[in-house]
Amino acid sequence: MLQTALHFSHTLLKEIIQVGDVVVDATMGNGNDTAFLAELVGSTGLVYAFDIQEQALINTEKKITELGLNNQTILLQQGHETVGKTIPEETELTAAIFNLGYLPKSDKQIITKPDTTKKALDALVARLKRKGRIILVVYYGHAGGEAELALVQKYSQQLAQEEYSVLTYQFINQKNNPPILFCIEKK
Ligand code: SAM
Repeated sequence: MLQTALHFSHTLLKEIIQVGDVVVDATMGNGNDTAFLAELVGSTGLVYAFDIQEQALINTEKKITELGLNNQTILLQQGHETVGKTIPEETELTAAIFNLGYLPKSDKQIITKPDTTKKALDALVARLKRKGRIILVVYYGHAGGEAELALVQKYSQQLAQEEYSVLTYQFINQKNNPPILFCIEKK
């Protein structure tokens, strides 16, 4: 059976992340990706996880504590647009993941936005190491979602093909706007 966009995002991360790597969860939410990344990088690696909602940090802290993953995780109550001033310029990132949209079962008004997503992408692309990947799983069925999808599409399409490969993964015959995955890989 074909993998969902969410499942495929983990497959694409698992393929490249090794113990000791430094990676980013740009949209922490309930910490599912943060925990997944922290398992992959192991105790010698590092996950920087960002979210603007206090509840996201509380939920994620609880999750990673239960799993014993605190050592390799830095949880930040900051927008991902601050990634450039938070992660040293010389740090080489193996991967970053975004789940764009709102946190299910939470305040639907708190959504990711095109301008801050672009700012984060600029900083992450600059720190991405060769063969590294930035993955965006874009939920776009809500108000404001289409504009963010358009930004991600335009941003990825404009990356020079000599330097980056960009993939999209999408179910095109499903109802209710299933998420679309983008993967930017540095050559
Ligand atoms: N990956 C998460 C998980 O595993 O539960 C789900 C992420 S949810 C679709 C989107 C998240 O982005 C929300 O928790 C929201 O608070 C967060 N968010 C919104 N604007 C943000 C920003 N500028 N920087 C970081 N996170 C932001």
